[in-house]
Amino acid sequence: MIARANHRVTYPARIQLVAAMNPCRCGMAGEPGYRCLRGDRCRTDYQARISGPLLDRIDLRIEVPAVSASDLIRPDRAEKSAAVALRVARARTIQRERFERLGATSATTNAHCSPSVIEEIAMPDASGLSLLRDASEKLGFSARAYHRVLKVARTLADLEASETVGRIHLAEAISYRMSSERMAQAA
Ligand SMILES: [Zn+2]
Repeated sequence: MIARANHRVTYPARIQLVAAMNPCRCGMAGEPGYRCLRGDRCRTDYQARISGPLLDRIDLRIEVPAVSASDLIRPDRAEKSAAVALRVARARTIQRERFERLGATSATTNAHCSPSVIEEIAMPDASGLSLLRDASEKLGFSARAYHRVLKVARTLADLEASETVGRIHLAEAISYRMSSERMAQAA
């Protein structure tokens, strides 16, 4: 919904955004044994081109190392897509049934449920909660980011068919929210 002084317009939209970018302007930051000519600013200036509000809406940020020729020669040991699809389908069933039990059927997945519902169904144990509190302070989570971390953690627990959201699920969810720059600061 876009609201301006005299006008308000609603566009139907339920999207899943998948995007990729280079780590820095020259595209080589993070490569073993490589140093950008412009130093650290090559990465920080480049990554700052994505606005904070946009980045805040991207829940899963993953660094992907460059593929080498030897990677291509290696035998294929990755999990097959069909096996992953089965795991995802099971997790979605768990979520749909949970929302039905709660009478919160406006959502069928964790991604689309309201903040109050996610707070109820993803409340972590004490050690998970202290981790979440620390990370929220250190990384300056917005309210949106806080709820999105809970949603990702709930989904990670569902993928393992775990009834409760534990510290390990939160740690993984928080790691997906850290940009490479923040990771470098935290290291
Ligand atoms: Zn660079």
